[in-house]
Amino acid sequence: MTIPLSVPHISGNEWKYVKECLDTEWVSSAGGYVDTFEKKIREFVGARCSAACVNGTAALQIALKLAGVEPGDEVIVPTLTFIAPVNAVGYTGAEPVFMDCDAYYNMDVEKTLNFLNKETVYRSGRTVDRKTGRRVAALVPVHIFGNAVDMKPILEACAGRGIKVVEDAAESMGTRYKKDYLDGRHTGTLGDIGCYSFNGNKIITTGGGGMIVTADKKLAFEMRYLTNQAKDDPVRYVHNRVGYNYRMTNLQAALGVAQLERLQEFLEIKKNNYRYYKERIDNIPGLRLADVPGYAENNHWMFALQIEQKEYGRDREELMRIFSDNGIQTRPVWHLNHLQRPYRKCRAYLVERALRMLEITLNIPCSVNLTRKDMDKVLEVLKNG
Ligand SMILES: *Cc1c(COP(=O)(O)O)cnc(C)c1O
Repeated sequence: MTIPLSVPHISGNEWKYVKECLDTEWVSSAGGYVDTFEKKIREFVGARCSAACVNGTAALQIALKLAGVEPGDEVIVPTLTFIAPVNAVGYTGAEPVFMDCDAYYNMDVEKTLNFLNKETVYRSGRTVDRKTGRRVAALVPVHIFGNAVDMKPILEACAGRGIKVVEDAAESMGTRYKKDYLDGRHTGTLGDIGCYSFNGNKIITTGGGGMIVTADKKLAFEMRYLTNQAKDDPVRYVHNRVGYNYRMTNLQAALGVAQLERLQEFLEIKKNNYRYYKERIDNIPGLRLADVPGYAENNHWMFALQIEQKEYGRDREELMRIFSDNGIQTRPVWHLNHLQRPYRKCRAYLVERALRMLEITLNIPCSVNLTRKDMDKVLEVLKNG
């Protein structure tokens, strides 16, 4: 492919910082860059505590454990998302309950509230699913493609019901609410715990990596403890719980620190590219570039093209093939999770819109290093196939 969908942009201090790790031989899971990266992320997103770990999926697994999710519980998740948060629920032994999406691909807030009001009861500090008798222990809003979830009603609904909120902000590093909504806070810092990913396709990368953030000092202690093999005595190696080897390495963190230095610039580029595409795509009959929520400053991680087949004349599959023939990588939305084999028997609540969104959407190249020429080539294919 000559124009990939989403690739890293390495053009700052990455070589310098990684070389320093190699020169000093601090390459593993201790070292100054891990601490620095944790601190810089904390400062950037406005979180009180942070812990770096091996990847975003591991971050979610630990976050759910810290939220008190136990085998046999239920956790509310969107059906339209990359499978990572769903698998993280699976690792805890709990069952996902799948929610439909809204116009921005995010968990539908109204349906989620309806589910809580109509399908659950709250008694003695626990919310229980009437139909299954299981405790609803947590809810995982995922900020899909960088679009901020409308968190206010979700936080309010969960607060009085003993339901923990674990935010999956893997795709939304850089997305914050506008000043007049939720105090302009950064996605990932509103729930009890938030998780980020620095996988190679995200807006900034450490090769592979993740971060857990929280405002709760007790949880912060536990997330360090659990991601570091639950060492109660680090000299004599006494372990009172089953821990995990989930620490980020200094090499990865060095990359992260260099990438984070560029993030503000990346966000500007993404915003400009989004505008460039949007002005032109929305003028092609039958096509539009997905809108983003008005209550947030978006990181524009992914650009979602929406196809009205009747008007445009081609459907998603056909367009994908034409792009591919032209050396341009595109990707449909993930197969819906309530239809994935391991989760087919789990509860799905009135899923409708997600089916349609999947059908009409094709993600188009969005890397930070995309050139005008690349974008014009994409537009040319859209216009003339
Ligand atoms: C990328 C991603 C993750 C975490 O993925 P890792 O590859 O494990 O870092 C989690 N949730 C969503 C929605 C993602 O897109």
